[in-house]
Amino acid sequence: MAPIADQGACSVCLETPLPEELLATGLCLAHYMVAVERTCAVMRRHVASHNVSPEYREQLASYAVESALVLSRAASSLSLSGNSKDAVLATFLSLMGLLEHTDRPEADHFELNRVAHQAARDAAA
Ligand SMILES: [Zn+2]
Repeated sequence: MAPIADQGACSVCLETPLPEELLATGLCLAHYMVAVERTCAVMRRHVASHNVSPEYREQLASYAVESALVLSRAASSLSLSGNSKDAVLATFLSLMGLLEHTDRPEADHFELNRVAHQAARDAAA
């Protein structure tokens, strides 16, 4: 388990220490997941209501994969309650749903799915 960083607390709730893996975001795990869910919702709405460019779809794919990796590392470094584990898995599902709106090959979907399953196994350990 990675040590909790002493560089401050979450910029939203102002009390939860930041895990090392989320220092760059300034958010605790719960608020990181809220931010990811909101971003996924905005991006999905944008794709549904606009004729988006291939470059934008590539940005979606990059965001989904990078966020899943950060989430996986952060979630597996903490001791999570059952509800928190459920929230982590729900956030992975949102990221996978976002990836379905891209033109990325199936291999990327498989990779994201693999990362989500590994994080779930790590969180359950
Ligand atoms: Zn927070």
